[in-house]
Amino acid sequence: MSRVAIYPGSFDPITRGHLNIVERALHVFDRLIVGVLDNSKKTALFSVDERLGQIRKAVGDDPRIEVDHFDGLLVDFAERKGATVLLRGLRAVSDFDYEFQMAHMNKKLFPEMETMFMMTGEDFFYVSSRLVKEIAALGGDVSALVPENVFTALTGKYKRS
Ligand code: ADP
Repeated sequence: MSRVAIYPGSFDPITRGHLNIVERALHVFDRLIVGVLDNSKKTALFSVDERLGQIRKAVGDDPRIEVDHFDGLLVDFAERKGATVLLRGLRAVSDFDYEFQMAHMNKKLFPEMETMFMMTGEDFFYVSSRLVKEIAALGGDVSALVPENVFTALTGKYKRS
């Protein structure tokens, strides 16, 4: 049986921290679906289409990876995709509370699905999309924290605004 995991998030934008999780997940799972949450309540810097394009470019041409978006319940998306593992990254204790709650809630909604956590890569524990945007907006150099195409996109966004 092939093991399919779903890695959901906002990815606004995708960072090298996210990519580190994607790479390592491929050592554990046969297929990985990167799911971009299309959340109209959260104001995002990049549109869903921009984020999908950025992720596809950053992960390259790997047949084991699928990049798609979803709105509504994550468990419905996972079920539709045939995924039985929900993968999340953990950086610090501050991530834990929310993740703990979500994992239990998702278990209630879709008992066949397991949430699994992967510890952040040691070089990336301090990297978040939010911080990357804040630094880039102030003109700081985030080129080491995001893939090249995202760096270009960030520079473009903040030059215009
Ligand atoms: P969300 O809004 O769902 O938290 P994010 O795009 O911020 O979406 O994060 C998606 C997932 O990636 C989450 O599980 C988050 O903890 C994880 N993640 C984000 N940045 C890192 C990082 N630097 N190292 C490891 N995991 C990370």
